[in-house]
Amino acid sequence: MSFRATVLTLFPEMFPGPLGVSLPGKALEKNLWSLDVRDIREHGIGKHRTVDDTPAGGGPGMVMRADVACAALDAALAANPAPAIYLSPRGTPLAQARVRALSTGPGVVLLCGRFEGLDQRVLDARQIEEVSLGDFVLAGGEIAAMALLEATVRLIPGVLGAEESPSDESFENGLLEYPQFTRPQSFEGRDIPKVLTSGNHSEIAKWRTAQSESLTMTRRPDLWTLYEKPKS
Ligand code: SAH
Repeated sequence: MSFRATVLTLFPEMFPGPLGVSLPGKALEKNLWSLDVRDIREHGIGKHRTVDDTPAGGGPGMVMRADVACAALDAALAANPAPAIYLSPRGTPLAQARVRALSTGPGVVLLCGRFEGLDQRVLDARQIEEVSLGDFVLAGGEIAAMALLEATVRLIPGVLGAEESPSDESFENGLLEYPQFTRPQSFEGRDIPKVLTSGNHSEIAKWRTAQSESLTMTRRPDLWTLYEKPKS
């Protein structure tokens, strides 16, 4: 069975969007994954299908109602009993390890917030995992959901060709990836590093590891402190 993604949103017209093109789009066509986009407003209250209300305790903006969001979530989970994630700036920052774990699972149900966010009781009542795209505030969870899905889908077996194996990529081994080069051989007076055109595979591997290590050390000291150099 292929990876099943369900997205709960107030703006279903945003999907598949970027997930419908290139690598994720082709994989979608090939049924390597499926995307079920559901409009939270279908569970809205009354004639106007209201989904939000003013925050208890006052303050600016609106909050998504607990009963509405929970009805949408429960219906989605009944159709796709996969891990549920609420996209939220208060969540655990998304990282490759979580993406990789999701890609080997049955799928995911993604709840996209809007307004000032979601009534806390939904998260408590359903024990929902919260995931953040980073330390900034988006207008809604949809772009975060797309980013999570794009990162996850490309790791599903069969989506990337064998020759594009992600094992060397940034974060896969705790390091940032080494710099890449291609034609032309000389560009505005800058040549491709000699070692890369030497044909000496062990020297190339050594150069790439050294580059990965120095990039990680200077750009991401947080990753570097966690990195354990493989014993050679
Ligand atoms: N008032 C909230 C932000 C609400 S933004 C706060 O200060 O925490 C509206 C919605 O956008 C959120 O409910 C969430 O679903 C989504 N969102 C905003 N920033 C995000 C981020 N960094 N990662 C994931 N989702 C985010």
